[in-house]
Amino acid sequence: MADEIKGEIKKVAGPLVVAMGMRGAKMYDVVNVGPKKLIGEIIELEKDTASIQVYEETSGLMSGQEVVSTGEPLSLTLGPGMINTIYDGIQRPLEKIKEISGSFIERGVDVSSLDMEKKWDFTPVAKVGDKVVAGDLIGTVQESEVIEHRVLVPPTLHTEKDGDKLQIKTVVEAGEYTVNDKICVVEDSDGKEHELTMVQRWPIRLPRPVKKKLVPRAPLITGQRVIDTMFPIAKGGTGAVPGPFGSGKTVVQQQLAKWSDADIIVYIGCGERGNEMTDILLEFPELEDPNTGKPLMERTVLIANTSNMPVAAREASIYTGMTIAEYYRDMGYAVALMADSTSRWAEALREMSGRLEEMPGDEGYPAYLGSRTAQFYERAGIASLLGSENREGSLTAIGAVSPPGGDLSEPVTQNTLSVVKVFWGLDEKLAYSRHYPSINWLTSYSLYTDQLTGFFNEKAGKGFGELRQISMTILQEEAALEEVVRLVGIEALSSQEQLLLHVARMIREDFLQQNAFDDIDTYTTLNKQFRMLKAIVGFYQTAKERLSVVEIAMNDLLALPVVETIAQAKQVKEEDVAKQFDKLDKDISEQIQELGNEEVSSKSEKEAVTADKVKES
Ligand code: ADP
Ligand code: MG
Repeated sequence: MADEIKGEIKKVAGPLVVAMGMRGAKMYDVVNVGPKKLIGEIIELEKDTASIQVYEETSGLMSGQEVVSTGEPLSLTLGPGMINTIYDGIQRPLEKIKEISGSFIERGVDVSSLDMEKKWDFTPVAKVGDKVVAGDLIGTVQESEVIEHRVLVPPTLHTEKDGDKLQIKTVVEAGEYTVNDKICVVEDSDGKEHELTMVQRWPIRLPRPVKKKLVPRAPLITGQRVIDTMFPIAKGGTGAVPGPFGSGKTVVQQQLAKWSDADIIVYIGCGERGNEMTDILLEFPELEDPNTGKPLMERTVLIANTSNMPVAAREASIYTGMTIAEYYRDMGYAVALMADSTSRWAEALREMSGRLEEMPGDEGYPAYLGSRTAQFYERAGIASLLGSENREGSLTAIGAVSPPGGDLSEPVTQNTLSVVKVFWGLDEKLAYSRHYPSINWLTSYSLYTDQLTGFFNEKAGKGFGELRQISMTILQEEAALEEVVRLVGIEALSSQEQLLLHVARMIREDFLQQNAFDDIDTYTTLNKQFRMLKAIVGFYQTAKERLSVVEIAMNDLLALPVVETIAQAKQVKEEDVAKQFDKLDKDISEQIQELGNEEVSSKSEKEAVTADKVKES
């Protein structure tokens, strides 16, 4: 190329390379650094001096070595074949790197992101003469057992001009094609022809366009009781899981990746231990999606930038994952993205900022930490998609945050909490006492609860919202009473208060605690969540009413067989839910009614009946 921009290395400082003679280069252009052509991105430009963050190990680079700009921002190759693949932070398939170099982190390995030889069975949908716009369907490819890859007119052909119309000039017959085969030609309103393949290129830092963002209205169903029932996240919502080391962030993220009812999962392992990714690799192919019965990998894309990989690539891994997620959203899918952990990305930003000698903000993080975090989560949402038809897709984004020492006031947590709508705060004390998931029910929140209650009432069970409200109140009252108990002892409490404490424990232990490693307990349907909670709240209300008419010894109440049945309710199999919980509800009311029967005077019995009537009306 005549106008190739070529400079030379002036200085190397860890992941940062400074190059001079880069006149004409642009911010965020990708450059090849040194003889191995290591991949880097220009993150600062001053006259002809470029500061480059290099996504690969920089040891061995020397001043004077060549730096060549590609003239293009860091972009992904998007097309069939990404599902079921593990990529590094810059979309190189790890298996391919290993095949070529024998190691996962060999440098300067140039591999294509997609298999260029593989033939895909393409079925055209668009016909010659059709008028189309960006986002319209050209044809489909069965990408995995469960995912139909929808080949769309790329958003790069999206213009507001002339109503955006393009005309299909040619389209191939159904048959086998590689991702780079020409499958379609469209002509724009200026008479210019564009050849389309199954592949799109897209720069990772640029959000892919949609018509407009909509208000989320359905939950991402996760099968995790404390999440779905207490702090639900919407499809297209944003959430954060902050917690100290060992509190269960990765387990929460992996549970969501496994069981949530998204169509596609993009899981980014960012700066965490490599063995956690290995766990996923071993586990996912074995696990069945409860919604489709197919292996979970058939809907999953993994991005692995583990702690032994270069720090600068953490940022790329976050954007790479987000761009892949948006690409599938654009096909009309519900995509869920997990990033574990966004703190490692923030630390990489801090390191680069330090090396650039920028003015540090809070705790040494760059001043733009907040805007970067916001920009990331803003790419989530439920959206009306480009295209002539009305189609929707959603992208749910959930980030783990690892505040040092669990101190939630630190900048990464604070910046994250100011943008996300769900906060699942993991609690060291709960984790220590093996209450998992260690989501603190007093500090966590979901700003979607109100808008999702209608859905839950309809799909999980009538009165679901009310059950949640009652149980949350019980847990809050428990916290208030605990203080009293500490001061004066449990005996000083009224029997009603003692009952409340016991029921709060039931909610915590028999409902909120959920063992990720137990075959049955790992996933609970909404209906079962509803029935479990209904039984506990039913126990509470029946016992409370009974207590208002007769004296009951707490020990007698707790010795009832139903108490044990409630404790075992997690283990009820889905197919037995209706039968077993109907029986449990009946047993609860019968067993409690029998308590203190002999002592009941006819008068108080009458009062109870009237109280019942009042409640019913
Ligand atoms: P973090 O990512 O916050 O450092 P992990 O997710 O690795 O923590 O969790 C640490 C350990 O806690 C896990 O290895 C597991 O033993 C336990 N744990 C966490 N969540 C659960 C859960 N839901 N069920 C059972 N055990 C859990
Ligand atoms: Mg972890």
